[in-house]
Amino acid sequence: MSIAKNLLSIKVTLPEHVTLVAVSKTKPVAELMEAYEAGQRIFGENKIQEMAEKWEQMPKDVDWHMIGHVQTNKVKFMAQFVTLIHGVDSLKLLQEINKQAQKNSRIIDCLLQIHIAKEETKFGLDEQELASLLSSDEFQEMKNIRIVGLMGMATFTDNKEQIKKEFTHLKSIFDQFTIHNSQFTILSMGMSGDYQLAIECGSTMVRIGSSIFGGR
Ligand SMILES: *Cc1c(COP(=O)(O)O)cnc(C)c1O
Repeated sequence: MSIAKNLLSIKVTLPEHVTLVAVSKTKPVAELMEAYEAGQRIFGENKIQEMAEKWEQMPKDVDWHMIGHVQTNKVKFMAQFVTLIHGVDSLKLLQEINKQAQKNSRIIDCLLQIHIAKEETKFGLDEQELASLLSSDEFQEMKNIRIVGLMGMATFTDNKEQIKKEFTHLKSIFDQFTIHNSQFTILSMGMSGDYQLAIECGSTMVRIGSSIFGGR
């Protein structure tokens, strides 16, 4: 199947309130352009340098989402153009994003990553850390970032009940915090293998790579 056909077959299954991020990490620009020509404008990358190279080569109406773990010292390479940073998991990182956004006279939208998986290796904050970050003075003082929601990754498993439990947990945290944060509108959860389940559990943004571009 072609990239355009893959895209279309996914898009027809998405409810209107769900945004599709086409995860193009490791794929060449020619393949991203196939998706672009089929109408896709939001692309997700997990390495800052790779994203910056693609940004230089692609049309300027593309929205670039950073979906991977962000190293503080690399924020400067994307501050000029990134549309949404999904994986923010510390105050220190947020402060660097704020600083670089300020240098570029921008306000950068961010999602806070919440740890929902069983695996120790997956990054993210727990509920307590989220609450304390949002209520800290340091956070209140930052004027060049905007937290627009949460992101999470489920455990890598075939156990649907487990994944559902984790997504439902994230959704409940999201709901709890939207009450006090009117800018919380995005819940980023779901990838190729589990996006339908994620949508059932309340996702508003899915990050899909291999089902569009093929395996990596
Ligand atoms: C690679 C990646 C995806 C996409 O994964 P697929 O299984 O290829 O759809 C989604 N989210 C994150 C954070 C990723 O790193």
